[in-house]
Amino acid sequence: MPELEAVIGLEVHAQMNTKTKMFCGCDNDAFGKTPNTTVCPICMGFPGTLPVPNKEAIAKAVRASLAIGCAVASECHFDRKHYFYPDLPAGFQISQYDFPLAKGGNVHYDIIDASGNTSEERSCRITRLHMENDAGKLSHYGNSTLCDYNRAGTPLMEIVTEPDLTSAQDAVAFAQELRRILISVGASDADMFKGMMRFDASISLKEKGTKKLNPRSEIKNLNSFKALEKALQFEEKRLRDLWKKDNGPLKNDITVGWLDDEEKTHVLRDKETAGDYRYFPEPDLPPLEFDTKELEKVRTGLPPLPREEKKKLSSLGLTEAEAQQLSADADLRQIFEAVLAKLKDAKRTSGIVITQLQGFLNAAGKTVRQGPGAQAMLDLVEAIENGKISGSKGKDVLEKMVETGKSAPEIIAEEGLEQISDESALETLVEKAIAANPKAVESFKKGKAQALGAIVGWIMKETKGQANPEKVNGILLNKMKAN
Ligand SMILES: [Zn+2]
Repeated sequence: MPELEAVIGLEVHAQMNTKTKMFCGCDNDAFGKTPNTTVCPICMGFPGTLPVPNKEAIAKAVRASLAIGCAVASECHFDRKHYFYPDLPAGFQISQYDFPLAKGGNVHYDIIDASGNTSEERSCRITRLHMENDAGKLSHYGNSTLCDYNRAGTPLMEIVTEPDLTSAQDAVAFAQELRRILISVGASDADMFKGMMRFDASISLKEKGTKKLNPRSEIKNLNSFKALEKALQFEEKRLRDLWKKDNGPLKNDITVGWLDDEEKTHVLRDKETAGDYRYFPEPDLPPLEFDTKELEKVRTGLPPLPREEKKKLSSLGLTEAEAQQLSADADLRQIFEAVLAKLKDAKRTSGIVITQLQGFLNAAGKTVRQGPGAQAMLDLVEAIENGKISGSKGKDVLEKMVETGKSAPEIIAEEGLEQISDESALETLVEKAIAANPKAVESFKKGKAQALGAIVGWIMKETKGQANPEKVNGILLNKMKAN
């Protein structure tokens, strides 16, 4: 039995976050809407209708192509891809076949180990990126099938990789980086929960050290990173067992499905070939042409790649996980930068923005956009910095800000949280504390410096944490020394 290694390639379908569908004016946000309400004769495939390409979708696909290092073709066109299935009312999908939008890219990504640090830097070549429209959604109930065409016509990017991936874990790390890139350039929301990003994964085995690629098994329609990982792990093991049994690789390409509940694949059919789809150029759409100068302008205007951002943030002293989180979320990043500019301390800033703010948002089930913005966070930090409230009270205030949407000054005023910093008020308090804690005073006089802690504690308890601890310490020490 030779030593075998896995060869994996992905086809990634990502829905674009445009206002309208790919070839008609229907609302592209069908989530939670009544079935078959965001449809029209064009996306329902009625005879006699004409598609109109969505400029916004093409612009987003171009941004995505450039961000993954592809060259955008100066000219490309759409093709009809024929297949008969109830989710596709026209009987064909408008896709791109031999002249795709973009070719020849490369995505760099990191393999993260269990402790959250990069253990390996890798890259995966991108074969092509093309545009197409999504199909409708079928739900099966017993012997009946319900069709919802709200999703029919949603703009999709299909991104095809070279077979550069070597394991399930590797494929997931690549797919997650790709997802972050698509989000960062605003091409897709890539919300896995809403099915906005889906994978077909091809896997074959080859003898280690050889170049020859063997027939592959293509796992269709994986909807989550977990499914991608489990399906590839399962199929790799199945192919290894088959190799042992048959003393060699698969005889021909096959297509399999993934059963999420049973955690196994099942053979669907021999793989279709391009001929089965009877591709031909879409006669109702003109070819697309791109100007080199315009493309260069788009490319130079792209934001930095999330991985570069992550490295920059890591160099400030954040953990890789924190850096990853910030680089993947532009809204959170903006807040972080505003607070960092004020505090000039990355660790402290990440404590407030990532640990506290993001933690409270998660607990409240809110997105960053639904929580306090950069200015609201600066108001809070200001109140802590100028001693109006303590850092620990600041945490409570932030929790209320997330819950109620009120500003820090409002909450501090309403709840009477302002720190007592008034000298004469604190002097009176310290005198009371000394009188109430004779034992602690005695130990201090005998040389036990830590006895002061008990007296400060008494004051903090008495004022419900509102006395300014630094000032209390100073006044107390002076009075004790004077005695
Ligand atoms: Zn429509």
